[in-house]
Amino acid sequence: MSLRWLKGLKYTNILDKVVATELCSKCGTCIVACKVNSRDCLDYAGKPLREESRCIDCGICLHSCARADILMEKLGFISREAVEGVGEVRAAYAVRTTREDVRRVCQDGGFVTTLLLWAYENGMIDAALLSGVGEQPQLAEPRLAKTAEEILSSAGTRYTYSPNILSLLDEIPKLAPYSSGKIAFVGVPCQIHSLKKAQRNNIKPFERIKISIGLFCSESFDYVGLMKQKIEGEMKIPLEQIAKTNIKGKFFIYLKDGRQHEIPLKDVKSYVRKACEFCDDFTAVDADVSAGGVGLDGWSAVLIRSKLGEEAIEGMLADKVIEAKPLQEFKSAYELMLKLSKNKRSKAAKNIDEISLTLTI
Ligand SMILES: Cc1cc2nc3c(=O)[nH]c(=O)nc-3n(C[C@H](O)[C@H](O)[C@H](O)COP(=O)(O)OP(=O)(O)OC[C@H]3O[C@@H](n4cnc5c(N)ncnc54)[C@H](O)[C@@H]3O)c2cc1C
Repeated sequence: MSLRWLKGLKYTNILDKVVATELCSKCGTCIVACKVNSRDCLDYAGKPLREESRCIDCGICLHSCARADILMEKLGFISREAVEGVGEVRAAYAVRTTREDVRRVCQDGGFVTTLLLWAYENGMIDAALLSGVGEQPQLAEPRLAKTAEEILSSAGTRYTYSPNILSLLDEIPKLAPYSSGKIAFVGVPCQIHSLKKAQRNNIKPFERIKISIGLFCSESFDYVGLMKQKIEGEMKIPLEQIAKTNIKGKFFIYLKDGRQHEIPLKDVKSYVRKACEFCDDFTAVDADVSAGGVGLDGWSAVLIRSKLGEEAIEGMLADKVIEAKPLQEFKSAYELMLKLSKNKRSKAAKNIDEISLTLTI
């Protein structure tokens, strides 16, 4: 992207606008990219904390923010490349793990955790940026997993937002011995977009991420709204008793004692984060590999998009850590994936169109 048009303007005005319009997905990439104490520029809740004395208006935040592209396209400064269907795909599979330890804890077919463990055990990666749960039950938290145990204990989906890239901030100094850049990244589409933009713009330290694994995503939820108000407050379900949640047409809550609750999706819609309304990507089109559940039972739908992703799946099949079938054999999941991608794109286009914008510099 040429920034000639910005001559004389402040890049930070654009970032402020991304936050003000609620386009900001709060992925945290700009914070990791910033070289002048980023935490004081824009916190991951999207709140500008900029101190003029610190911010040097270098534009690095803009170069690592995919949501800024939406804004700049709307302003007529750039045009974004249109993505058709589910993006570029080399192969599409339904995959399930053969590892019992993964099967016990994974969300769908366990593809993501099996891939991470296989890559870790074969020396392809030293660590994985993903999401775990800390002291607060059901609160997704960014984590840099540096052992197989940490990868395994992070399996499963938390539907609240987790800016996984932020772990790089605190962990990079500790990673010095592994400075070869062998890190895997797991994230939802908005996170993959900004990561790839930052990598394309050669911004450090994102070159350390060797493989990106995108999770299919319709939306993610506000923790306080969904977990604290709805589930704990209204439904009187103590969060520490939840073993797993899953969305398959409804929002399912599985408790540790075997009981199960379900919430119609229309009753959780009000807790969807505003930024998700502007997301036009269901399958993480920029990732090396993407995975989702799309109504499958015990299988992950997997899209292989890069040579690296292809090599990984071939290696995993050769080592028999997964079994795979052509995704097209699972007709309803395949069609659902196409339908959800199409719907998300058209909804986002409408919502972006409705953003009212005046750029005052
Ligand atoms: C917010 C969200 C919404 C989703 N919506 C859909 C959907 O609409 N349709 C669909 O088909 N699939 C959706 N998925 C993907 C799905 O839930 C599974 O992650 C996917 O099918 C892979 O399953 P698996 O068994 O291979 O993953 P596992 O082996 O269980 O691994 C899951 C990985 O996801 C990471 N993770 C968990 N929670 C988060 C989070 N909040 N943010 C980032 N990373 C996380 C974990 O650290 C782990 O590495 C969603 C995922 C998330 C996080």
